[in-house]
Amino acid sequence: MEKIKMITPLVEMDGDEMTRILWKMIKDELLNPFIELNIDYYDLGLKYRNETNDQVTIDSAEATKKYGVAVKCATITPNAARMPEYNLKEMYKSPNGTIRAILDGTVFRAPIIVKGIEPLVKNWKKPITIARHAYGDVYRASEMRIPGAGKAEIVFTAEDGSVTKELIHDFKGPGIVQGMHNLTDSIESFARSCFNFALDIKQDLWFATKDTISKKYDHTFKDIFQDMYDAEYDDKFKAAGIEYFYTLIDDAVARVMRSEGGYIWACKNYDGDVMSDMVATAFGSLAMMTSVLVSPQGYYEYEAAHGTVQRHYYKHLKGEETSTNSVATIFAWTGALRKRGELDGNKELGVFADKLDAACIKTIEAGKMTKDLALITSIPDVAVLNSYDFIKAIRATLEEML
Ligand code: NAP
Ligand code: MG
Repeated sequence: MEKIKMITPLVEMDGDEMTRILWKMIKDELLNPFIELNIDYYDLGLKYRNETNDQVTIDSAEATKKYGVAVKCATITPNAARMPEYNLKEMYKSPNGTIRAILDGTVFRAPIIVKGIEPLVKNWKKPITIARHAYGDVYRASEMRIPGAGKAEIVFTAEDGSVTKELIHDFKGPGIVQGMHNLTDSIESFARSCFNFALDIKQDLWFATKDTISKKYDHTFKDIFQDMYDAEYDDKFKAAGIEYFYTLIDDAVARVMRSEGGYIWACKNYDGDVMSDMVATAFGSLAMMTSVLVSPQGYYEYEAAHGTVQRHYYKHLKGEETSTNSVATIFAWTGALRKRGELDGNKELGVFADKLDAACIKTIEAGKMTKDLALITSIPDVAVLNSYDFIKAIRATLEEML
C-alpha cells in the first residue's frame, strides 16, 4: 500500500512520562506505516523545556499559529516535587496555560463513546462537549474578610479621574466580600470559538448563565453571545441545520440530565470547572476524554484530557507491565489529521483518521481493552491487554479495515 501524503505540516508537541511512551508506540504502529508524516516537531517534554527555559513551548504555540493545527501529548506541570526530579531551573508554568494564552483559545472536552461502557446517566447516548470559558470571574477575584461594621463598595476610577461607586453592603458585623471581573474581549473570543466550533462539528450550541439574578454581569455574557449570533452566525447556523440555544443555568442543568447528548454546552468559568468533572465522570473514564483548544482565529490544538499517567510510568520504569489506555491520545492524532486534511483538501487523510477512530472503537467493542475499561465495562469475558498489545490489537483491526 502506498503511504498517504501530507501537504502542509502538522505541529507535533511531544510530552512526558507514560503518555510519551504511548506517543511513540502510536507513531510507530498506527501512523508511520500508513502516512508519510509531514511534521513540525517540538519536544515539550520537561527535560527539553528546562534546557530551553520553556522557549520551546512558546515556539510550538507560534508554529500552531503558522500552520493552524497541532497535536499535543500530555505534559508535566511542574510542582515542588518535580524540581529535584528534573533538576529544574525554575517552576515553569503549565504548557497548556502558556499555549492557551498565546492562541487565546477555548478548550472543548468530549467523551469517546463505545458500546459496553455505558454512561452513568442512562439516557446519554451521544457525547456532551463542554466548553469552558477560561478567564476571570472567581478565578481572578479580589477578596476581603470584613472584620466588623462598615461599608463595602465597588469603586471604579476612570482614566479621566471620574469615580463611580456601587454599594455592596452596609455591614453591621463581620462578613466577607469578593470582587470579580471579566473582559469584553475575552467573552467575545469565547463566544466566537464556540460558534465556530459548533459549525465545525455541526452540533447545537447551548449557553447558560444566571442573568435573571446577575442583571449586569451575567447578562453581559448573554448579550455578547446573542448579539454576535444575530450579527454573524444566524444564517450560518440555519444553513448547517444547527441551533444556538440560551437558557438559565439551572434550567440547562435539568435539560442536560434529561437529554440524550449530542451538543456543545458552553459554560462560564466556574460552571465549566464543575460541570466538566461531572460530565467526565458520568461518561465513565478520563482515559476516554478528548480535548481540543480552538482559537477564535481558527487554530486547533488536539490532545487527550488526561495527564501523563505518572503512576503507570513509574511502574514502567521498574520494568513492570502497564495497561495504559491510549485511545484519547490516538483520537488527538486523528482529530488533528482530520482537521489538517480538511484544511488542505486532503480527503485521504480524513478517511484514514475516521478509520483509525473506528478501529479503536471496534477493538474495544470486540472485548479487547486496557484495564481501566475492563473494570467498568458490561462486556463479558474481556481480554485485558497491556499498553503495547492494545495498540497492536488496534493495528490489526485497522489493517482489516483498510
Ligand atoms: P493523570 O495523568 O490524568 O492520571 C490520573 C489517574 O487517572 C491515573 O493514575 C490513572 O489511574 C488514571 N488514568 C488517566 N489516564 C489514563 C489512561 N490513559 N489510561 C489508564 N488510566 C488513566 O493525572 P495525574 O497523575 O494527576 O497527573 C500526572 C501529570 O500529568 C502531572 O504532572 C500533571 O501536571 C500532568 N497533567 C497534564 C495534563 C495535560 O498535559 N493536559 C493534564 C492533567 C495533568 P490509576 O492510577 O488508578 O490506574
Ligand atoms: Mg474541575
